[in-house]
Formats: sequence, C-alpha cells, structure tokens
Amino acid sequence: MSLDLKSLVRTIPDYPKKGILFRDITTLIEHPEGFRESVERIAAAYRGQGVTHVAGIEARGFIFGAGVAIALGAGFVPVRKKGKLPGETIGQNYALEYGVDTIEIHADVVGAGDRVLLVDDLIATGGTAIAAAGLLRRTGAVCDDAAFVIDLPDIGGAAKLKAEGVKVTSLMAFE
Ligand code: 5GP
Repeated sequence: MSLDLKSLVRTIPDYPKKGILFRDITTLIEHPEGFRESVERIAAAYRGQGVTHVAGIEARGFIFGAGVAIALGAGFVPVRKKGKLPGETIGQNYALEYGVDTIEIHADVVGAGDRVLLVDDLIATGGTAIAAAGLLRRTGAVCDDAAFVIDLPDIGGAAKLKAEGVKVTSLMAFE
C-alpha cells in the first residue's frame, strides 16, 4: 500500500495567530519515506515535460523544490524575500492580509527558452504563487505549471492561479 502522506502532516491550532490551523510539514519531511515520496510524486507528474528549472518559494518551497529539481535533472531557482539575493534582481510586490510583501529573483537566472516549474509547500490565497509566476514570466521564461504539497481549496488560491493560465497539482488537500 502506498504511504499516506496526509497523515504525516501535523496540524497546529492557533499558529501563527489565534483561529489559524497551521499545516506543519516538518513532520512530513522528518519521515524519510514521507519526504522522499513527496518529492518523487511531484517529480513524477512533470518528468519528460521539458522542465529546465524548478523555482522554489522561500523558505519551505526550497526544501521540496530542490529535491524535485534534482529528481528532474533541472536547475533550481530560489524565489526569495526582498534583499536576500546578492546579484541584480527583479521583484514583484503582492498583498498580504495587512500590508505588502516583495519577492525577488536574480534578473539573469532564467529567460526565453526556459520552462519553469513553480514549487511551494502550500497554497492558500495564491497571492505568493501568482506573484512568483508573474515574476518568472517577466523574464521571458514559460511558467505554466505549479506544484504544491498541500492545497487549501476552500481559500481558492489554486483556482486563482489556474485563471492566470498556470496548471496546478497538489499532493493533498485540507478542506
Ligand atoms: P498564500 O500566498 O497562498 O496565501 O500563502 C501561501 C504561503 O504561505 C506559502 O509560501 C506557505 O509556505 C505559507 N503558508 C500559509 N499558511 C500555511 C500553513 O498552514 N502551513 C504551511 N506550511 N505554510 C503556510
């Protein structure tokens, strides 16, 4: 029988603030088979599709994205919070519940002819992923695919990302 990955995700109530049910992937990645299976199931969905780079969103997207990049024989692109990358960057603002945040990539990391798979641990409102896909597309690269370990479908982020022309896959959903 295949491993039940969902049972390896721990739910922590009231983190980071009261009323939030935080889906904690640290229990999934500390499980050797759980971690390996998560990465392999994502990679299996994109093998042979010409992915040149996997872009992982800081910070938990780095954990899964790096594994998927190795499994696909692709390069890895860190999508970072503002001010963390040493070279010339391009950035994209996106709205938070209160305020605005900015993500950045190196300006020369991908471009026309590259096919980028976006990876993160979880999609909620989709704000982070939509900003990341838009940023990657600004370089001329194709970013038409995004993979998440966890989808929260009731919040609707995956549907919004699909409306932007990005096909979305996820390993599990929490309603
Ligand atoms: P969104 O921009 O889709 O609203 O939020 C997704 C981002 O917030 C992801 O980068 C994800 O890491 C983080 N995030 C929000 N809620 C959770 C959660 O319950 N668990 C985890 N692991 N990450 C979360």
